[in-house]
Amino acid sequence: MSITTRFAPSPTGHLHLGHAYSALFAAQASGDINARLILRLEDIDPGRSKKEYEDQIFSDLRWLGLRWHEPVRRQSRHMDDYASALDRLTGMELLYPCFCSRAAIRREIAASSSAPHDIPKGPDGPLYPGTCRDITAMQREDLKAAGQPFALRLNMSQAMAIAGTLYWHDADQGTLQATPEIFGDVIVARKETPTSYHIAVTLDDHLQGISLITRGQDLFHASHVHRLLQSLLDLDQPDYHHHRLIEDDTGRRLAKRDNAATLMALRASGTTTAQVRQLLGFGP
Ligand code: GLU
Repeated sequence: MSITTRFAPSPTGHLHLGHAYSALFAAQASGDINARLILRLEDIDPGRSKKEYEDQIFSDLRWLGLRWHEPVRRQSRHMDDYASALDRLTGMELLYPCFCSRAAIRREIAASSSAPHDIPKGPDGPLYPGTCRDITAMQREDLKAAGQPFALRLNMSQAMAIAGTLYWHDADQGTLQATPEIFGDVIVARKETPTSYHIAVTLDDHLQGISLITRGQDLFHASHVHRLLQSLLDLDQPDYHHHRLIEDDTGRRLAKRDNAATLMALRASGTTTAQVRQLLGFGP
């Protein structure tokens, strides 16, 4: 059976060597590094996504020798798909509005009676203490009527009770039991954007027929949540391969702030495509 992979950058900065590795890894994992990629622009954050970054992504990928299918899926144009998925979860009574600010959550956690080392922590930090899960329907309506902005959170224990025990497969780690509860009541729609990374990526991977999701180790834990959403929304279940992260000379993972490692800067300094491919282990 043929393998369908994708590369899904966010146009919120310039691509660096880590992205180049990820794009080449996806192309190679599809079975043919020269085949066209499925490319998706994860541009749901209107404040940070920019056309100039998008244009540079196309230029850098072309320079890397990669080609892709048209049209490129831009998440910002598919908000209706994400809204339908959220409606479905709402219909299952699995979502609740959360009016808390980050500062309020921090205060709530600090004020909780637990000793600091007893406060449950997940991959993204301390878990949401559930404040808005327990308010009454009347309080919710009052806050909405007063125009308080709100995010939508997944009631994790109820969602897991419906889904039952789930498994997913990672190429390096084998078959794993999904433990999405490590994130607590995860946000599925943000106050400023009526979707989230988790909803958009899970739905799109299904709609685009992705059979093998390749991405960095930094997103490994997110796959536990994605497996749960696949089950709740009746989506196909892909396989996963989380690849290593490219580090700088000091052993720190490359990030958007590392300007020297951007493909744009490397190109400007005369580095060739062959050198970058070689450096990343995709040389001839
Ligand atoms: N858009 C994400 C990023 O640029 C990648 C998402 C994914 O591969 O699932 O880090």
